[in-house]
Amino acid sequence: MTPEINFIDLKAQRRYLGARLDNAIMAAVDEGNYIMGPQVKAFERQLSAFSDVKHAIGCANGTDAIGLCLMAKKVRPGDAIIVPSFTFASTAEVVAWLGATPIFIDVDEASYNLDPEGLELAFAEAENKGLRTVGVIAVDLFGQPADYDPIESFCAANGLWLIADSAQGYGSTYKGRKSGAIGTMATTSFFPAKPLGCYGDGGAVFTTDDEVADIIRSLRVHGKGTEKYDNIRVGVNSRLDTLQAAILIEKLAVYDEEIQKRQIVAERYEAALRDVTATPRVMDGCTSVWAQYTIRVEASRRQAIIDNLKAKGVPTAVYYPRPLHQQTAYAGYPTAGNGLPVSERVSKEVLSLPMHPYLEEETQDFICEAVRDVILAAS
Ligand SMILES: *Cc1c(COP(=O)(O)O)cnc(C)c1O
Repeated sequence: MTPEINFIDLKAQRRYLGARLDNAIMAAVDEGNYIMGPQVKAFERQLSAFSDVKHAIGCANGTDAIGLCLMAKKVRPGDAIIVPSFTFASTAEVVAWLGATPIFIDVDEASYNLDPEGLELAFAEAENKGLRTVGVIAVDLFGQPADYDPIESFCAANGLWLIADSAQGYGSTYKGRKSGAIGTMATTSFFPAKPLGCYGDGGAVFTTDDEVADIIRSLRVHGKGTEKYDNIRVGVNSRLDTLQAAILIEKLAVYDEEIQKRQIVAERYEAALRDVTATPRVMDGCTSVWAQYTIRVEASRRQAIIDNLKAKGVPTAVYYPRPLHQQTAYAGYPTAGNGLPVSERVSKEVLSLPMHPYLEEETQDFICEAVRDVILAAS
């Protein structure tokens, strides 16, 4: 009998959280403080403690979180911001929102994260184009942190700010430092399928900079000053809902435990699959929260492998089938150096397997056997 396998099983988590979650949701509904209620402040305090960073500021989603950071830094046309090409669209989208120019750089073959070698090339490319490089957005793709030491040195040497887009890596660590506490500003998303997700849209910005924090708290409520109807700057409407904050308080309470469970699932995949396929590498001194468990297969066989796994009842996903510099919306923006060969190659080879903290051993064994069969049969 084939068990029903979910790529991400949010219902299993919901069962595990049980009555705690029912009570939290009903309390928020009954109290009636739907916008910026006490749960938002409480959750922000817990989040800042979790990341060991002074300010955690809730907002409407992970895309806005990056956008608010750029607005706080007054990004404008003529500015260039260096971003990896192999990532979700948001990372570059927000730069384009503000009329600034994303400059795409390549990723590292082993970690899929921004390759620091490309930073100088991107900087030079911006200069050639008459643009002023103001910052870097690094992404913690698939759950592990980018290589921040060289990125931070580059930013410091060139007077740039750094945003760590940790939508997929919230809860990971880089040489003992926690995500959220890395970068001039860091961001995350609480989209349901992210490692720390809510039951709708949500996001957060993290910073140790008091001034940036003040500006972002103002921007998210229409640029308010000391009072609600005092508008001191042009802002947006980007708050985290009270109801989502109430849900996130319960989810954050079990998040460390879930990260450990994800690690166990990742280790079992590694042991069962490393001899038949390229399994993911976590960089030395880092930990991953395993937003995705992504293997690599031959490009020419990927679709057949996906189809054959589907026939066996194993769902998979491709993150991401095309790097951003090859997407219609972003193909017109500059790339650093001589093309982005790694981003182009890995986008054709990556394949993500079911991953969540509640993946049972029996189900995982079934998945591993199917993956082994499908890969070995076709080789
Ligand atoms: C999901 C994601 C975002 C955006 O988050 P939303 O909450 O969906 O807006 C940004 N960056 C990365 C890398 C993501 O994976």
